[in-house]
Amino acid sequence: MPHEPFAKKIYLSSPTMHGEELEYITEAFETNWMSTVGENINEAEHGICNYVGCSHAVGLSAGTAALHMAIKLAGEKIYGPTKVGRGALAGHKVFCTDMTFDATVNPVVYECGEPVFIDTEYDTWNMSPEALEKAFELYPDVKIVVYAHLYGVPAKVDEIAEICERHGAIIVEDAAESLGATYKGCETGTFGLYNAISFNGNKIITGSSGGMFLTEDKEAADKVRKWSTQSRDNAPWYQHSELGYNYRMSNVIAGVVRGQLNHLDEHIAQKKAIYERYRDGLSDLPVKMNPYDSENSVPNYWLSCMIIDADAMCEQTRTDHEASYVAAPGKSCPTQILEAIAALNAEGRPIWKPMHMQPIYSGNAFVTTGEDAGADIFARGLCLPSDNKMTPEVQDIIIDTIHECFD
Ligand SMILES: *Cc1c(COP(=O)(O)O)cnc(C)c1O
Repeated sequence: MPHEPFAKKIYLSSPTMHGEELEYITEAFETNWMSTVGENINEAEHGICNYVGCSHAVGLSAGTAALHMAIKLAGEKIYGPTKVGRGALAGHKVFCTDMTFDATVNPVVYECGEPVFIDTEYDTWNMSPEALEKAFELYPDVKIVVYAHLYGVPAKVDEIAEICERHGAIIVEDAAESLGATYKGCETGTFGLYNAISFNGNKIITGSSGGMFLTEDKEAADKVRKWSTQSRDNAPWYQHSELGYNYRMSNVIAGVVRGQLNHLDEHIAQKKAIYERYRDGLSDLPVKMNPYDSENSVPNYWLSCMIIDADAMCEQTRTDHEASYVAAPGKSCPTQILEAIAALNAEGRPIWKPMHMQPIYSGNAFVTTGEDAGADIFARGLCLPSDNKMTPEVQDIIIDTIHECFD
């Protein structure tokens, strides 16, 4: 018997506020620092530096803005100063994670570069080191690699770093989904020369929006501070010798981030409990949870995902805009499960549709070592409701409903 829909919608991952956020916002209001300058920004930046263990953090309006600044810096480092109107990467290829949110790769295009998509590996659902190695054989001139840690699961950090080092390429790390996740004891957001995190409303902690640029390089951090506040030169008037952006974080947003930071570990613990409850509750089905390297990494468990065994997939058809399936006994598919979850008044989500399958990037190169793992994980996987305010009772109903899909 199908369950009654929940009276209150269960989200994929919604903001969880604690109260301190409001105190810091109020402080900004009462001291009139309703601006992109103020104590909350300084404290949020310090707080992130302390937590992540990096030397410099620059608060920005979004994770995407942080990635844009990181990409622009990488382009200038390799190819020299940006020519206004041409972008820092004009005509150059950049190797990018393929199965990710498009914000990982769009900044490459903002700077007129050409993303080349690197296929996914099955161990962590991140950039495949084998495919990356092959990409350097095909395009030996490439000098910049952008990779993400999908759903809060650290990628194969050492393998990717070794390959990049051998080919003289620099790394931009997209840790938007993985704040608090570690690899060999080090926090994600510290593995690239330039790194980005996000405080978007559905991330593990949020500012309602916002992001930060992280680096060990003081000069780079100073550049980002300057570029993100319209690139004013040191002069008595508005003097500009470089292109500017209005990307700085608001002191009000920073107040929310500052308040949330104290609860990051608590959110991770809640997300971990959700992941483990799904893992145990679904263990009798022909499915697996999104995998991670338990020897070397600790995820932040931002989103719990599952993948259906290939031989337990019913027929599923996806066009560019629609999905359908043919139900079969003992089998299911992401479309069927997502529909069942939606009927419960809960929110699941397909896996990020790989960039090489997106119409906007259909003309870009895609490097795979054979199997197109991204397309396969997209076809068989899905993100489960992972809100840290979800009760075990509610989660059990979701687990039960997934079982019914396989009846
Ligand atoms: C959320 C996200 C971003 C972008 O962050 P915003 O703060 O929303 O701009 C970038 N990359 C990945 C992988 C993300 O999930």
